[in-house]
Amino acid sequence: MGADTRFGSTRWARLAVALVNTEPSPRHGDLLTEPARLRELLLAHDEPEPVVVTDVDLAEARAARTELAAVFTAAGDERRIAELLNALLARTARPRLVGHDGVPLHLHVDAPDSTWGGWLAASGGMALALAVAEHGVDVLARCAAPDCRHALLRQGPGRTRRYCTATCAARVRVAAHRAQVRDAAAAQLDERG
Ligand SMILES: [Zn+2]
Repeated sequence: MGADTRFGSTRWARLAVALVNTEPSPRHGDLLTEPARLRELLLAHDEPEPVVVTDVDLAEARAARTELAAVFTAAGDERRIAELLNALLARTARPRLVGHDGVPLHLHVDAPDSTWGGWLAASGGMALALAVAEHGVDVLARCAAPDCRHALLRQGPGRTRRYCTATCAARVRVAAHRAQVRDAAAAQLDERG
């Protein structure tokens, strides 16, 4: 399969981050409130059709989201991250090689017949575990913007990244600059006062 990234942990990790970031945050509400949203999320991450999502899938995807989110919230705490991921994998993962529909052998991480939620939990858990094993626990982080806190993965050139996007970094910079200007103005007024 070589360069086919559909079955690799890189895609699972991206999907796990995207799933966690549908949680309500200071900047937006819950983005995963109906099956259609889950379907869009899967399609946006190269899941091939047919992608049929039921209410049960949605409920289990939301449960997977809570578990994966807890892993990012534990960022920096090596023991807690291992506990959370080991429990998640013990419950959901059944790694096995599968070849079907003309696709060469590839790795399925979830149990056979699991829902989309079970698949998201198992493949997301495996991807985060692989990322931690390869890069260390600092690979998992949450955006340092106080009004964001989105999950992010720090790999490759972005190893010391603090913000989920350039937008968040810029917003924090602008806010800090405005606060500085305000403080300077207030100090001048004090001097005159
Ligand atoms: Zn952010």
